[in-house]
Amino acid sequence: MAVERTLSIIKPDAVAKNVIGEILTRFEKAGLRVVASKMVQLSEREAGGFYAEHKERPFFKDLVSFMTSGPVVVQVLEGEGAIAKNRELMGATDPKKADAGTIRADFAVSIDENAVHGSDSEASAAREIAYWFAETEVSARIR
Ligand code: GDP
Ligand code: MG
Repeated sequence: MAVERTLSIIKPDAVAKNVIGEILTRFEKAGLRVVASKMVQLSEREAGGFYAEHKERPFFKDLVSFMTSGPVVVQVLEGEGAIAKNRELMGATDPKKADAGTIRADFAVSIDENAVHGSDSEASAAREIAYWFAETEVSARIR
């Protein structure tokens, strides 16, 4: 399997619950490595731009308002099959439908406040990483 990079966000609900460390531990235990990281308070413009693909969806306004409600931790994860692996660790968008033991099943309560974001394809990973990080902010491969 190819080594990939994916964009991950620990959302305001999980930051408020003080489970940043527990979530990062799951990534590390699964063989993913944090190669870039920052804690930020998003503006409406930043959150709206990031979720531009959902602009016409009925929940867009709620999504932007949630994502700007408190600080988030944005990181780049690297590892074999990182994009799919992160989505597996996250679980389904709706925590009620997420498999037991996934991040969303364990830390989220509703579809609108669901603890984490993860890129869903190679194309979105490339776009999302470039949205949040300059090339110089992402570490070279660590061995
Ligand atoms: P994800 O890739 O699993 O995060 O899911 P999507 O890309 O489909 O949606 C992006 C985000 O929008 C989700 O993680 C939720 O935070 C939010 N979202 C999706 N569907 C709904 C919904 O029906 N209602 C609300 N309020 N938020 C939603
Ligand atoms: Mg998505």
